[in-house]
Amino acid sequence: AQHLLARAKQHSGLGAYLAFNEDASLAQARAADARIAAGERTPLLGVPLAHKDIFVTRDFTTTAGSKMLEGYQSPFDATVVRQLAEAGAVTLGKLNCDEFAMGSGNDNSAYGPAHNPWDVSRIPGGSSGGSAAVVAARLAPAATGTDTGGSIRQPAAFCGITGIKPTYGRCSRYGMVAFASSLDQAGPMARSAADCAALLTAMAGPDLDRDSTSLDRPAEDYSAGMLKPLADATAAQPLKGLRIGLPKEFFGAGCAPDVLAAVRAALSEYEKLGATLVDIALPRTELSIPVYYVIAPAEASSNLSRFDGVKFGHRAAQYDDLIDMYKKSRSEGFGPEVQRRIMIGTYVLSHGYYDAYYLKAQQIRRLIAQDFQQAFSQCDVIAGPVAPTVAWKIGEKSDDPVANYLADIYTLSTSLAGLPGMSVPAGFGAGNMPVGLQLVGNYFDESRLLGVAHAFQ
Ligand code: GLN
Repeated sequence: AQHLLARAKQHSGLGAYLAFNEDASLAQARAADARIAAGERTPLLGVPLAHKDIFVTRDFTTTAGSKMLEGYQSPFDATVVRQLAEAGAVTLGKLNCDEFAMGSGNDNSAYGPAHNPWDVSRIPGGSSGGSAAVVAARLAPAATGTDTGGSIRQPAAFCGITGIKPTYGRCSRYGMVAFASSLDQAGPMARSAADCAALLTAMAGPDLDRDSTSLDRPAEDYSAGMLKPLADATAAQPLKGLRIGLPKEFFGAGCAPDVLAAVRAALSEYEKLGATLVDIALPRTELSIPVYYVIAPAEASSNLSRFDGVKFGHRAAQYDDLIDMYKKSRSEGFGPEVQRRIMIGTYVLSHGYYDAYYLKAQQIRRLIAQDFQQAFSQCDVIAGPVAPTVAWKIGEKSDDPVANYLADIYTLSTSLAGLPGMSVPAGFGAGNMPVGLQLVGNYFDESRLLGVAHAFQ
């Protein structure tokens, strides 16, 4: 912990960390030492990691990347944070992210951008950009992230690491600053599928008293589940019998040729491991962008109404009356992208527009989920690119929200369907930047996804 804290300070130019509390980190490390001295041997005992600054923590400030929550100190730990601490993990600090997790490049953070360690002139991806950057720069062996429409998978892909978004409801959302509650899901980001499995084992599990959408299924041991051999496996072909579905909508003209080449090269390695590739279709892939960018802002506009300068958050120094105080506090506290989404969300939920936008989006969301079930009748996992390009230059898309939204094309549908998805390093594309292979499984198929990723690593 001491070594990594010193390294994090040396590399503060990466913009990855937003908060430290060295005394708290070292106290946790000493507690882990004591458990080790008492003979305990569990996978995460004493392992240093850092949390996306969207998880509330008692020992560290939590900002969600927003000026609205500057200096905010939570009285409790998020369930995911608590469970990792109970497993013996040592928290190094809190990690930069897009404001309220809204973004694809970590350039919507009120505390400045985080940088991609492979090329610091580029974004690390977002919204869990700090999480991906610390793992890639070896400032921490692992980090937590959250994924509402791709925010674990896309930064993992852009920084050449491994990340998994589990089935919606598998990890508790208690203590995760809410963006879009029907989509938000926590997950681990680390160097390998094996590391992600150990972390997810500690993070997942029911938490029904605190999060009513958490799933009432017993916790699983993903490290063991991941290693369970497939029925037809042989020593030379561990993935024999596995059918990998390739949605034609993910391999079209919208994807950059360098990304497609890296993804296809990874898939041919999977064939050597015994898997068969099958062509499938996810016909409503394109609709996932308008559907997500109605539903997510709608839920965000509702969730963010709590930041009124009274119950939570920044309060303007001067105002005339209560309404003026709300207006000034929210205008000063929220950045431009968050304000844009609150306005879109309020609009699509408003009387007269609800049926045309919000209800319609919910109906198409159901059809998108059905398309996946149709696809899973032909294959065991689905594979494709995580994003249509490699990481772009910082600033390149900052003034163009639609360009950011379009880059989410391959990750949004999985989130809308609530399915587990992961990003596995596939190779390199333009500018020698990492490319991620996305693997999507059916509900609760995290062990299989991690196993398939592990076979390739
Ligand atoms: N890029 C998407 C957005 O801006 C997804 C973000 C996320 O998953 N938190 O909403």
